[in-house]
Amino acid sequence: MTVQPIRLFGDPVLRTAADPVVDFDKELRRLVKDLTETMLEHGGAGLAAPQLGVGLRVFTFDVDDVVGHLVNPELGFPDEEEQDGPEGCLSIPGLYFDCKRRMNVVARGFNLHGDPVRLVGTGMMARCVQHETDHLDGVLFLDRLDKQTRKQAMKEIRQADWYDGVMPTIKASPHSVRGLIG
Ligand SMILES: [Zn+2]
Repeated sequence: MTVQPIRLFGDPVLRTAADPVVDFDKELRRLVKDLTETMLEHGGAGLAAPQLGVGLRVFTFDVDDVVGHLVNPELGFPDEEEQDGPEGCLSIPGLYFDCKRRMNVVARGFNLHGDPVRLVGTGMMARCVQHETDHLDGVLFLDRLDKQTRKQAMKEIRQADWYDGVMPTIKASPHSVRGLIG
C-alpha cells in the first residue's frame, strides 16, 4: 500500500515552493508511485508532491483515462484562449469554485527516467497541468479566484468539518493570472 495521507489547506508545505528534482533515482520512482496511487484512490485529476509533504517539482495526472506524471514542468501557452469552470483540490476537499484558466497548455519536463517529455493539453488536461504546476510554486487555486468567489471559498473552508487549523493568510494573487504565467 503506497497510498499516503494528503496534506490539507493550512499545512505550510502547501505554501512552500518545491525544489527541482536533481536525482532521477529510486526515491523518485517511489514518489511517482505514491502520487499515482494516492491520486487514483481519491479520484483526483492530479496530485502534486507537496500535497504529500514532499517539496519536489513532481506531479501526476489522470485526465480522460490518461495517467501520467511530469517532473520539473515548465509551462508554455500557445495562445490566449481562456476557460472558466469548476475546479477543486484534494487539499481542500469537497469544495469547488469556478476558476479561470488558460484553455491550452504545452508543458515541458521529464519522466521519472530523466527523459525529456512534452505534454500538450487542452480543456481539462490544461486546467489540471496549470493547477498542479501552481502547487509546485506554493500557489493554490483559491489564489486564482475572483475576489468575491475567494471570499465565499474562505467562508466555506472555515465551515468545513476537515478544517481545524488557524486560518492562514490567503495570498491575494501577487500578479494577475496573465502576469504569473506570462
Ligand atoms: Zn490541488
